[in-house]
Amino acid sequence: MKYKKPVSGLLLLIVGIILFYNLLFGKLFPLSPLAIGFDKHELKNVIIYIQNGSDYNNYNEINNFTTSVEKFHNLKFIEKPRIYIFSDKDSYLRRNITKARFYAYPNNKLVVSSWAIDESKKGILSLEIYIKHELSHIILCQNMSYLAAYNYPKWLMEGIAVYSVNQMGTSWYPSKKKTFEIIKSGDYFPTNLYKTKNEDSIKINTENRIAFMYSEFGCIVDFLIEKYGKVKFDNYMKGLFVHNNHDAFFKEIYGINFSDSLNEFINNAKR
Ligand SMILES: [Zn+2]
Repeated sequence: MKYKKPVSGLLLLIVGIILFYNLLFGKLFPLSPLAIGFDKHELKNVIIYIQNGSDYNNYNEINNFTTSVEKFHNLKFIEKPRIYIFSDKDSYLRRNITKARFYAYPNNKLVVSSWAIDESKKGILSLEIYIKHELSHIILCQNMSYLAAYNYPKWLMEGIAVYSVNQMGTSWYPSKKKTFEIIKSGDYFPTNLYKTKNEDSIKINTENRIAFMYSEFGCIVDFLIEKYGKVKFDNYMKGLFVHNNHDAFFKEIYGINFSDSLNEFINNAKR
């Protein structure tokens, strides 16, 4: 017994150091209140953190993105989104759980990879569209509990983001017309399989599978808004902050089974 104390103390210290290191430089970075190697710029609507070595300096551009996001969602940001712009690819991959160019964590942090900044300079993608897409996730997450965010239909979260910034037809995302052509040719991704282990069982005949799925989800949101109006859609989008049975709540709002509504969407796309 006598010798166990220093050993467990040392163990705790080692675990503590590993945790601390991971918070600052590893996969726990998204949870870290500190951002070593970043310069902080607090603006009116957002807080931007720029990693040393990045030459990105158009902070006002990003600061102005929040207004249209609030308008579309009919919601307010409860706190300023914190946006981290990386200058270094290795560091981005080391400090994040994603390999995606952009990523929004449910705790109000939005990370932007170094290569996304390069691609925006080359005109391959629009920083405005991509950051507003992530801000769509952030504004929704800010207005619901962590549990509700966890339960929120993943396809709908993406569909809202894609539709809200008119992302269909930009960069890799097929346009509405192209998406309908793919659906017409027999390919369709069932919304309920998105982010499940059965996702890969669905074969889609297109070069960029994820881009097609995102455009399809955006088109479903477009279909609901066109057919039933934005007010009803807002009730559906926000009602899911508190209702966790999606299909039952969909029926309550729209008066039709979700699966029947999806069939209508598919038939409409095939027309
Ligand atoms: Zn997204």
